[in-house]
Amino acid sequence: MLRKTFILCIVLVSFSCGGNEAPETKEQPEPEMIMEAKYTPEMVVNKKDYTCGMPVTAGISDTCHYEGKAYGFCSKGCMDEFKKDPAKVLAQQ
Ligand SMILES: [Zn+2]
Repeated sequence: MLRKTFILCIVLVSFSCGGNEAPETKEQPEPEMIMEAKYTPEMVVNKKDYTCGMPVTAGISDTCHYEGKAYGFCSKGCMDEFKKDPAKVLAQQ
């Protein structure tokens, strides 16, 4: 009885090892998909990109934090422009 259980364990271990050594490459989930969903419009305080005026719902590719708040931007260029003088930009909104 005990021996039978032991053999079953060996078989299961061999099976999982064999699976890992299989030469065929299976489709892997793309981690980039998770990265793209990193920022959502709900996570930032601004409704539009303060630099170019584009709504953040169109897509956020970069964010920056200023005074404890998150701001989303369509591109790194827009974010850099905001970071030059955030206080001035916010005063104009
Ligand atoms: Zn922009």
